[in-house]
Amino acid sequence: MKKIAILGSTGSIGTQTLDVVRANGDIEVLGLSAGRNIEKLEAQIREFSPKLAAVWDEKKAEELAVKIRDTDTRVVCGMDGLLELASMDGPEILVTAIVGMLGIRPTIEAIRAGKDIALANKETLVTAGHLIMPMAKEYGVRILPVDSEHSAVFQALNGENPREIHKLLITASGGPFRGRKRAELAHVTVADTLKHPNWVMGQKITVDSATLVNKGLEVMEARWLFDVDLDQIQVVVQPQSVIHSMVEFQDGGIMAQLGTPDMRLPIQYALYYPNRRYLEGDRLDFASLGQITFEEPDTETFLGLPMAVRAAKEGGSMPTVLNAANELAVKKFLHGEIGFLDIYEIIGQSMERHRKIEQPDLEEILAAENETYQWIESRW
Ligand code: NDP
Repeated sequence: MKKIAILGSTGSIGTQTLDVVRANGDIEVLGLSAGRNIEKLEAQIREFSPKLAAVWDEKKAEELAVKIRDTDTRVVCGMDGLLELASMDGPEILVTAIVGMLGIRPTIEAIRAGKDIALANKETLVTAGHLIMPMAKEYGVRILPVDSEHSAVFQALNGENPREIHKLLITASGGPFRGRKRAELAHVTVADTLKHPNWVMGQKITVDSATLVNKGLEVMEARWLFDVDLDQIQVVVQPQSVIHSMVEFQDGGIMAQLGTPDMRLPIQYALYYPNRRYLEGDRLDFASLGQITFEEPDTETFLGLPMAVRAAKEGGSMPTVLNAANELAVKKFLHGEIGFLDIYEIIGQSMERHRKIEQPDLEEILAAENETYQWIESRW
């Protein structure tokens, strides 16, 4: 029996991870966690009987403990709870399906405890890749990508020599507003933004897909995961979302990974790597698909991508500032406090005023995050 724990089990990636567990029947789930959604967490606890359940919100954790007192699951809360879950005895793999920079400390704790990481939480590598990747090497743990683009690259590299990579071609759907120009984005609503053409995902990443910040975060993540220069990463818009990404090798040969847009595939691949298992679901039917098309990303309209690339090139604490500014701006947009284009404004201004720290340690990353939040809150 493989043993896992899941950070963020009640979210989009978390619930699909549990779908994979349910379908295979040979994985034991020892830890689950949620932010506040204890109703869903309770149902998961009753189905999977984990040893530990972590809830961010202290009051909700207390409520949950009362609800499940007839079970053997122990409830913990806050950051200490997440850290306990990340390093608990038993699981070989920690699935990091939590949203935001909150994922960094538990990921570090899990690496120190010798666990492989099935990494969905992209904010971790974006802000702390320079700490996480050497640490994973030092502790001999694998970082197994869950994000579909990175899983595609990981799959394309199977059996290949990573030193022979010429470039990575990261594909993008273009999001719900592909084809629109800047002026047309001024009054788009939250509901319009959450209508992703191909993928059903959590709210934050869906907004990030619309701004193309998500693609920028993926470029940064890819750079750390596959140890390539930023100049070796190209973003290609592929609106049907069937090519999940590609690797071009030194000889011009290109390996691509294709499939229907279904996150259960990369999740299952990470959990069972290097093996593949049967996966129930729609298969790609090329005849009915008809065509696969490609475009350049519109970086004049969707500033998320060029801003992220700029932050990555500047390096140091700048990716943290971009990420933190984006997290808060997306929250404000989802709450109806700002417009769509203000997300770019907030990120741009936050980066402009930031004094970059080279090679920040964890404390400096968290301080840069905090300082960015405070500055934004004082102005917007
Ligand atoms: P969701 O918003 O659907 O789920 C987030 C999870 O994190 C939930 O379980 C949520 O709990 C939990 N959570 C939220 N806030 C806290 C907190 N303060 N403390 C503890 N737990 C918390 O997100 P997704 O599943 O869409 O995304 C998760 C990560 O995976 C993100 O980093 C995203 O970028 C990445 N990713 C997602 C993909 C997707 O298809 N969804 C694809 C590739 C990457 P609760 O339910 O209680 O709020």
